[in-house]
Amino acid sequence: METTTNTAALAVDQKEVKRIVQAQRDFFATNGTKTIAFRKKQLSKLRQLIADNEDAIVEALHQDLHKHEFEAYATEIGFVMVDLDKALANLSKWAKPKKVKTPPFLFIATSYIHPDPYGNTLIIAPWNYPMQLLIAPLIGAIAAGNTAILKPSEFAPHTSALFAKLINSTFEENYIRLIEGAVDETQWLLNEKFDYIFFTGSTKVGKIVYQAAAKHLTPVTLELGGKSPCIVDNDTHLDYTAKRIIWGKFVNVGQTCIAPDYILVDQKVKAAFIEKLKYYMQQFFGDNPQESESLGRIINESHFDRIVSYLGDGDAVIGGQHDRSDKYIAPTVLDNVKEDSSVMEDEIFGPVLPIIAYGNLREAIAFINARPKPLALYMFTKNDKKVDRVIGETSSGGVCVNDTLMHIANPYLPFGGVGQSGMGAYHGYESFNTFSHQKSVLHRSFLLEEPIRYAPYNLKRNWLKKIMDWTL
Ligand code: NAD
Repeated sequence: METTTNTAALAVDQKEVKRIVQAQRDFFATNGTKTIAFRKKQLSKLRQLIADNEDAIVEALHQDLHKHEFEAYATEIGFVMVDLDKALANLSKWAKPKKVKTPPFLFIATSYIHPDPYGNTLIIAPWNYPMQLLIAPLIGAIAAGNTAILKPSEFAPHTSALFAKLINSTFEENYIRLIEGAVDETQWLLNEKFDYIFFTGSTKVGKIVYQAAAKHLTPVTLELGGKSPCIVDNDTHLDYTAKRIIWGKFVNVGQTCIAPDYILVDQKVKAAFIEKLKYYMQQFFGDNPQESESLGRIINESHFDRIVSYLGDGDAVIGGQHDRSDKYIAPTVLDNVKEDSSVMEDEIFGPVLPIIAYGNLREAIAFINARPKPLALYMFTKNDKKVDRVIGETSSGGVCVNDTLMHIANPYLPFGGVGQSGMGAYHGYESFNTFSHQKSVLHRSFLLEEPIRYAPYNLKRNWLKKIMDWTL
């Protein structure tokens, strides 16, 4: 089938959504997306598109989130480039059928697992890392041989518009199409049948997506959010602990799905830890963080108001200042918070860090286990036995010991949630795997025939048992 003409027209209606989905289904049916050469060519095109437009991407991210170019490269552009290079270097190996054993009673045969593209896929992204969370899943979709429709978030309009222009002028619409829009457009898309849906966003909208997918029995990855706890043991390197937590919490001003949401600190070191936070926050952001070029801004007024409302849930021992006209909230540490206050019930998703003291590790573990399973769990300690205990006795999407966020930077570690924080995982090989169906193939020969399986049955059950036991 011919690929259809591409225009960068951005607004769509429901009919148009239907037409594009059907065009992608038709194109997939031609097998045009499946050869390794085609997939590699498309990954290279995507790489080139990003490399050629680095400055424009940095600018769009600055306009949407006031991101410093260092942060924009580290957490969005560079992050995606590493994943792209990994996919390009390894795709031939990943896509090869994997041979598995065949039991002797199936002699003569070979068995293998053939990674199969699902078909037409839908990728829905949030606004907080508007490039990374749109493009990283796309790498998996392309590498695995699928078509894709991308739906970025309406709350990062500059990044959304830029990628609409870039993607829609680089790829044919029946292969990859970016559709801009908000709830209506996403609902129109969700009404259609996809072969796979990859959603990143809130737990609330994740449930809507899961229900829509269930209507068509469409498999999903749900990359959701929640409250990621951070345990600070008394036996830790307090300076590095404070610095690494400040970095992970206030990068993108706390608007990170795996930002440490709250601190559980051993009461013996609480006062000293808060002093270290004070010292390093001043070092990182100066006396007036509003003037720091290294600090981002809250995405919009409604999130600003929500986060500011948390400031009343405790005592701001550091920060607490805010300026609505600039969507600025100072990096803030809250002491004396109540466990049933909103700041301890909602995902904070902003630069407010509550601190709660614990008496012993059992208490800290019980605190975490009494709440929904987090996306990430952080533990700062020099004591490996305590690390083993926390890993063994809690459940979370991932764990990072003695640092924050950095586990996401290792492409060899699958990234995803569990329970309320999501299902499925991606990055590196796992992105390819996520967008592939693992098709089992048994290939038998005509050289031998075993008549005993056919009717009329002449073999006693005990004999069959022996044969089957022998073959395991
Ligand atoms: P969101 O759930 O509000 O929106 C995500 C996407 O869903 C957007 O594209 C939006 O247009 C669409 N959407 C919103 N409401 C919808 C509805 N009613 N029906 C259909 N589609 C709808 O999330 P957000 O505010 O953009 O992002 C913040 C959330 O995402 C946080 O909870 C954060 O933890 C989570 N998140 C998770 C990860 C992860 O990798 N696990 C990464 C980033 C963000």
